[in-house]
Amino acid sequence: MAIRADFRCEYCLLAEQVSFYSFHIEHIRSIKHGGSNELDNLAYCCPDCNYAKGSDVGTFVHNDETLIRFFNPRKDRWEEHFEIHNGVVHGKTDIGKATAQIFKFNEIERLIFRQQLAELNLYP
Ligand SMILES: [Zn+2]
Repeated sequence: MAIRADFRCEYCLLAEQVSFYSFHIEHIRSIKHGGSNELDNLAYCCPDCNYAKGSDVGTFVHNDETLIRFFNPRKDRWEEHFEIHNGVVHGKTDIGKATAQIFKFNEIERLIFRQQLAELNLYP
């Protein structure tokens, strides 16, 4: 799992070596929503992303009832859905926006930490 993910959170790209906490194995589709324990439903994930996601599978990005699923590291390419400017991780697509919003990618403490890491060439 960790090797497949290159020892990074598969959502926010934080490297495990710079994290104070051990990373988690996360269910992409939570068990509650019918997800399995198979490898193709598991992601390597930092605690911040995992706690923020919880058992959610998506959210609403537009001002309507359309449910937008989260980024799936087993199916989607990160670069297609996100871009990084000055440490801020922006969603480029609806999937990227839904994920960035609910996973709290740009919460101020996380953002400052990533900006410091970027200055040291440790992020992304
Ligand atoms: Zn993360």
